[in-house]
Amino acid sequence: MNIILLGPPGAGKGTQARILVDEHDMIQLSTGDMLREAKDSGTEMGKIVADVMARGDLVTDDIVIGLIREKLQGDKKGGFIFDGFPRTLAQADALTGLLAETGEKLDAVIEMQVDDEALVSRITARSTCSNCGEVYNDHTKPIPADGICTSCGQKAEFKRRSDDNEESLKNRLMEYYKKTSPLIGYYYAKGALTRVDGLGDIDAVKAEIAAALD
Ligand code: AMP
Repeated sequence: MNIILLGPPGAGKGTQARILVDEHDMIQLSTGDMLREAKDSGTEMGKIVADVMARGDLVTDDIVIGLIREKLQGDKKGGFIFDGFPRTLAQADALTGLLAETGEKLDAVIEMQVDDEALVSRITARSTCSNCGEVYNDHTKPIPADGICTSCGQKAEFKRRSDDNEESLKNRLMEYYKKTSPLIGYYYAKGALTRVDGLGDIDAVKAEIAAALD
């Protein structure tokens, strides 16, 4: 099963992708995570994308399509979860081609709907475990007082993303509405789209996604 989680920043794509990885042995392909890794390890590509990401702009299609192409050659396990990719129509077309080349197809596109105010408050309150990537939220799931991550059980650092600030977020939202939201119509027209209410708690959203994939 290969699926896309589509939605604005803060919709909960990463959180739900991690659940699908645990429960269905799927592979999470987050282009945001891949780009952050490249940036943190100081590769040439990482240097190119650092400023673009800090501003909250989209990096070029060629770069992210290249990252995904590489991952699709590897182990497929229970299938791929595309998290934060595609983000443009060119990326969506490229994904169709890449899947066809490897004899794969897209099984579902899940649009996670969350209203803009909730996105801003979620993003400005979030932090992640530096060991395992578990996502915490200052209001709904605060960082454990003992500093031990509830997911991996390790003593952890809980990091805030440098682009999770109001200025960059405004731009990320604008990029989403200008360049990514047309994908909702694109996948609807292909008959692949299912909408879920991303405002519920984690288990409620998980149940809606499970029903959509059934
Ligand atoms: P994310 O972790 O998905 O919120 O992505 C963080 C940042 O990485 C975005 O604001 C973009 O600058 C960049 N990025 C991630 N995925 C893509 C993509 N598919 N296309 C273009 N830029 C991306």
